[in-house]
Formats: sequence, C-alpha cells, structure tokens
Amino acid sequence: MNVSKDGLVIWSSKTGEADRVLTILTDEGLITAYARGSLRPNGRLTSACTMLSLSNFELATGKNMYTVVNAESQKKFLNIYSDAVSYALATYFCELLKLTVPYNEEAKQYLTVMLNTLYLINNGSKPLWQIKAVFEMTIMTLSGYMPNIFECAQCGALSSDKVFFEYSTGTWLCSSCSEKRGIQADVPFSVMSAIRYIVSAEPQRAFAFELRSPSKEIFCDICERYLVEHIDHDLKTLNYYHTIKD
Ligand SMILES: [Zn+2]
Repeated sequence: MNVSKDGLVIWSSKTGEADRVLTILTDEGLITAYARGSLRPNGRLTSACTMLSLSNFELATGKNMYTVVNAESQKKFLNIYSDAVSYALATYFCELLKLTVPYNEEAKQYLTVMLNTLYLINNGSKPLWQIKAVFEMTIMTLSGYMPNIFECAQCGALSSDKVFFEYSTGTWLCSSCSEKRGIQADVPFSVMSAIRYIVSAEPQRAFAFELRSPSKEIFCDICERYLVEHIDHDLKTLNYYHTIKD
C-alpha cells in the first residue's frame, strides 16, 4: 500500500551504487525510506531526496522502512547550500533532530521549529550565533529538558547581579547562595534572562532579545554546553561547524 507524506530530508546515507537511505522529519515523527537511484545525477528522485529538501513523498510501506516511489520537492533552501558555514549549522540541527525526535510519533512542533529556522538561515535575517542558541534551547525544551531558571534554586530569589549555572539540573544559584556554598557566581544575569525569554516566548518572538559581549559569548557557551551534556552523544556535526566557522 502506498502512502503520501510531506517531510524534510534531515539525513541521508549512501548505500549500493547510487541509492540513499533517508531519514525524513514529518508531522508524525521521523521515518526512514529507501530511495533507489537517488544519487544519480539528474535521477528522477535525486533533487527531492537531497538533504534539507522539503518534499512530498509517495511511499510504499515495507517491513523495516518505506521505499520512495515518487518524490517532488516543494521547498529548497538554496542559499544554505551555497554557504559552507550555514550548511554546517543546518547539518548540526539535522543531527540534533535525528537524536531527539521520536519515530512514528507526533512531531509537528519539531518540524515547525526546524522549517522556521531554515527560513531564517536562508534569508540571512538573524545572526547565526542567535539562531544556533535559540534552536538549541528550543530543542531541549521540546525534548523535556527545559531549564528551570525562573528563580534561584536555593532561596527563590527572582534575580541576582551574577549567578552560578548548574548544567546537570538546568538551574541557577544567586550570588549569595553561591557564596554560601563556596562556588563562584560568574554568569551575568542578562544571560539567564535571555534563556528564560527563549524558553517562554512564543516561537515567532523567540529572537527578540539582545546581548552584547561578553554576555553574548557566555550565553552561547551555556546554550551549547547545556545541550551537549544532556544529549550525551559525540556530535561530529557540531565539531565540524566550529572548525569551519572561524
Ligand atoms: Zn539564592
């Protein structure tokens, strides 16, 4: 039986002569599909089965995975393909999705977030550091790791000049609670405010915050490290992004 699904190609691995196994992000979670001949130049399926193509797939159901019968590309983010740094960042996002989105379970929010993010990278309307940090914190929140940063974890204070951020729990301590424990509060409060803003704002407003150096760099480090600690996976695409971005 054939089914029709819209989805974004987030991963592909070569197999056989010119075939690919695709991981596709759909409203209903991740699916895997075999795309025969999709690596042939000018092949019938080639364009629509490329990484970051949002396509309509006609799929034949199989034992372990679908087989692509037909595919038509609906949207391509062409500017991302032509910029190595943007492409590396988008590939890192794809790897995160591959690790966090469930198979064959509702995943509409993930797809919406990823498509909005690709539009932003493609248009060049937001800086990449901000897109990256917002995406990281949003994925953490959707995966059940929303940091609990609305108050000091010890005394309940709502703000502090500087805080100590605890990665394992996603919480912070105000400067006086940090001092009592003999640890140094070294994160400016503006960083916690920005993270708090991202995890509680409507998705389309998540970018409406500003940070200057050095808070900006601290903020980016915290968003990345918080994700890396919880994903607990060797993220090769992230390492690659750092290698080429400078
Ligand atoms: Zn406190």
